[in-house]
Amino acid sequence: MDLQALAPAYIRSIDPYVPGKPVAELAREIGLAESDIVKLASNENPLGLPPKARAALESAVAGLVRYPDGNGYDLKAAIAAKFGVGTDSIVLGNGSGDLLALVARAFLAPGDSAVFSEYAFAGYPLAVQMAGARSIEVKARDYGHDLDAMLAAIEPSTRLVFVANPNNPTGTLIKPGELLEFLEAVPPNVLVLLDEAYVEFLPPESKFDSVGQLAAFPNLIVSRTFSKAYGLAGLRVGFGLMHPSVADLVNRVRAPFNVNSLAQAAACAALDDDEFIARTIKLNQEGMKAITDALARLDLPYIRSWANFVTFHVGDAKLLNEHLLENGVIVRPLASYRMPNSLRVSIGLPHENARFIEVLDAALD
Ligand SMILES: *Cc1c(COP(=O)(O)O)cnc(C)c1O
Repeated sequence: MDLQALAPAYIRSIDPYVPGKPVAELAREIGLAESDIVKLASNENPLGLPPKARAALESAVAGLVRYPDGNGYDLKAAIAAKFGVGTDSIVLGNGSGDLLALVARAFLAPGDSAVFSEYAFAGYPLAVQMAGARSIEVKARDYGHDLDAMLAAIEPSTRLVFVANPNNPTGTLIKPGELLEFLEAVPPNVLVLLDEAYVEFLPPESKFDSVGQLAAFPNLIVSRTFSKAYGLAGLRVGFGLMHPSVADLVNRVRAPFNVNSLAQAAACAALDDDEFIARTIKLNQEGMKAITDALARLDLPYIRSWANFVTFHVGDAKLLNEHLLENGVIVRPLASYRMPNSLRVSIGLPHENARFIEVLDAALD
């Protein structure tokens, strides 16, 4: 008997998410030590854990015998204080990927639809499909969101629009004024999930005051993560800020202990480690310059990025990726994003960037 036939068709047709290759896996495959492998594939923070988070983790270990605080009291209090919102506006997620799936589960049913951009984060179509709803993918403009076309794509069945700013995997940014106009034009009965996974990397003048707009736009949901600039990808913690009545529903579909106690403790400590974020931004700027300078020198066109990675175009990305892997460098192929001629490289430490450039140089020689 075909056990899969028992599942709804919309579940059976899900394409599995393809994550960046783990270091240990490549080490096994090519027989290199893990320490000889450079992973620039998943937009993690190359500096490692924020020192304050490490200390918090150590003291939280003894408490692991207990269940986590299912309401995340301390973390929500810290987020509320930092962003000037009420704790009833906050939903914690097992990473922000969890959060966007929870929003989709709470607001989408079969027959409903959600809008997102071509080349936008792969988590969106997945979340929509898991809810049994229909994805409306809107053609990108210069690899970025075409907000006018996204607005025009909203149908009566549309409940949710995803906007990634900056976007992954393209690194594109929407100007604050355009985003505001978009929010003004979206019907109030359609939720806008503004995914700001890379917002910490933006210069102040390019930042949209998303949190400040929550009061004006009750249909706005702002999502943030501790996985990227905050350096806690392995712990899985992110959060959403939204109208309390939206948060109330999203919390009802959340698993009661979706954020573990170590993650809560580390996130609390990381949230006000401003010194760590400043170092992260500086390192990223320098690394971005080193890598984009090399791409320009090698005549490889790239998409100008506002985040901690850059996507570049090569003739045969599959071949170049294999060459990079054989030499112990992991980047992100983008064939699953229908960008078969492009690779995305995360900005690493100076010696990691140099190693990537060196292998790239040799490959193109
Ligand atoms: C990485 C990423 C996320 C989710 O990361 P989590 O680790 O689940 O918090 C969400 N959106 C975008 C655009 C991302 O790149």
